[in-house]
Amino acid sequence: MASAANGGGTEVRKADCAAVIVAAGDGRRMGRPKQMLPVGGVPMLERSIAEFSRLPEVGRIVVVTTAEIIERYGGDWAKKNIVAVLGGATRLESVRAGVRKASGAGIVAVHDAARPLIRGEQISAAIAEARKSGASVLAVPVKDTIKTVAADGKTVAGTLERKKLWAAQTPQCYRLEVLESALAAFPEEKDATDESQLVERNGGKVTLVEGSDSNIKVTTPADLAAADALLGASSGEGKMRVGLGYDIHRMVPGRPLIMGGIRIPHTKGLLGHSDGDVVLHAACDAALGAIAAGEIGIYFPPTDLTIMGISSIAIVEKTLDVLSSRGAAVAQLDITVIAEEPKLSGHYPALRKSVADLFRLPIENVSIKAKSYEGLGEIGRGEAMACNALAVVRLK
Ligand code: MG
Repeated sequence: MASAANGGGTEVRKADCAAVIVAAGDGRRMGRPKQMLPVGGVPMLERSIAEFSRLPEVGRIVVVTTAEIIERYGGDWAKKNIVAVLGGATRLESVRAGVRKASGAGIVAVHDAARPLIRGEQISAAIAEARKSGASVLAVPVKDTIKTVAADGKTVAGTLERKKLWAAQTPQCYRLEVLESALAAFPEEKDATDESQLVERNGGKVTLVEGSDSNIKVTTPADLAAADALLGASSGEGKMRVGLGYDIHRMVPGRPLIMGGIRIPHTKGLLGHSDGDVVLHAACDAALGAIAAGEIGIYFPPTDLTIMGISSIAIVEKTLDVLSSRGAAVAQLDITVIAEEPKLSGHYPALRKSVADLFRLPIENVSIKAKSYEGLGEIGRGEAMACNALAVVRLK
């Protein structure tokens, strides 16, 4: 048996694989067609398409689905060179329809759209094994003890030896000629629940590639909830993100010096559209950066005259709203001011307290320090003040 962990590797991967993604079910067990139900906000079928699309060895994608779905999505797919084919009455007939569109491929990877959590490295491992041995099936060892049932449908007829049992997943991958020959050998077969059993019956060798328990098949509403939860776990829910922010403003006479939301006594102040608070601007950009939510200029464009002269505390409030709407919260800030003057060390406690209060953080999670510019350039001449900030953000 091959291991998914060894798949891929550093070898150059030929784009000779056609992915046949089967999504033709009518959703009897879900009450409606399930292919387009969202998992983590993205339709299941689109998740599989995206995962296959990013692999260099996949040169063609064939989606086998219903007339309704082709009508609605086929146009978009065509622009991305994705081939849409009408499915059959059974899974195997849909596979036959898809494989007919795979001519010329070296390898065919057959995948069920009902497994939306498939990961690229698992696909690559299965493809690599099929390239080597002809046919591969992603599978996991069975954890339950499996009973066979007698003809009455309720009496146990026997217990299977668990260590010999693996649960087959998809993708199942084949050299094209291996699959075509197996499908042709059993032209009347319609009901086989996977096509690899035809390869077995045709005398072919099928190699197991160990997959992942998270590659679940979504069949019932409970599976859908489980898929959402698994996706949340893998997307970093409950984890930390880090963002970097920077800002610089001119220092001019006749303006109050506002830093970290408080006024610092000095002969000059920061020039800006707002109050020019470099500390809060850098901190907000760091927090937004941690969740890839852009920068404060998006939310407070310098061209918007209605916000002229606003306090940067409003910018912090907006930033916290944006984070909160994405299920994120600032956990820690580390801030370095770069300025020749005034000397800031005496103001560190007040600055820390103000920034901590504004970002709703305990004071021990906020660090403020300052560096001079050794008399160099504009900052060194006291004509500008800059600030760097690092934000740690927790995803809820
Ligand atoms: Mg600024």
